[in-house]
Amino acid sequence: MSRRVCIVCETNAHTNYYCTVDEAEYVRCGQCGLMYVNKPEHHEDLYKAYTGGFWKELRRKLMAPVRRFPQVSHFEDSMERARQIFEFSSSFVGEKSEEQADTGVYLDIGCNKGFLLATAADLGWNVYGEELVPELTAPFCKTYKQFKDQIYNGRFQDVRHHFRSNMFDLITAIDVIEHFEDPVADIAGVLEILKPGGVFVIQTPDAGCEQAKQLVEKWGALKPLEHLHLFDEGNLGTFVSKTGFVDYQVSEPFEDADGNFVAVMKKPL
Ligand SMILES: [Zn+2]
Repeated sequence: MSRRVCIVCETNAHTNYYCTVDEAEYVRCGQCGLMYVNKPEHHEDLYKAYTGGFWKELRRKLMAPVRRFPQVSHFEDSMERARQIFEFSSSFVGEKSEEQADTGVYLDIGCNKGFLLATAADLGWNVYGEELVPELTAPFCKTYKQFKDQIYNGRFQDVRHHFRSNMFDLITAIDVIEHFEDPVADIAGVLEILKPGGVFVIQTPDAGCEQAKQLVEKWGALKPLEHLHLFDEGNLGTFVSKTGFVDYQVSEPFEDADGNFVAVMKKPL
């Protein structure tokens, strides 16, 4: 069976069968270690994995308009997690002059219910969000009305035309890049809309972690309808450097889950 090309190495010469999960085949590049779904399902079928099917989606649609942001489930825990992630991420943004101190422009890709956006907005940042599932962001938009027109629903690749070049001081994508259908275009898109010197922070499952090695096809991060590309600390660095990012560094994960890592990178000045 033909193997899809490794997006890091730009060849399938080193790509081998890795394992089968839910009848989908993961392959692995023997050169860089990238694990990826060999033949991803069509986008419409992938989307069903996020909406959780008809009944779950219907319930969310019915509930979303009545719920305000502080009433969403696990509010306090989620806000505490968001404060830690935002404090870490924003610490890499360069010095600003006194009058600019509170005017950073921030985008959270895959913003979910908007906890990171709320944290940043409360600190005075101008916030933008992207989220695939519209109902998730409805409570945030009700409470933070001034930002509701800056929350876009769809895949990053579908909504990124709303953003200008050199627009953001900080972009985060927490547990998101593994979902990208076309990471080459999406990561280049992130670079384009960052300001020179702007910071991009990601968390993603680590294909090089012990759990991945020991559990093979039973590793929890292997979900072929959702996680299409599983990087490790090394090959992500190679990939983003090729795209044009600099100052790549790896950090401890915000939560370990199935074995994650955090990476920070910048757009060149
Ligand atoms: Zn490779």
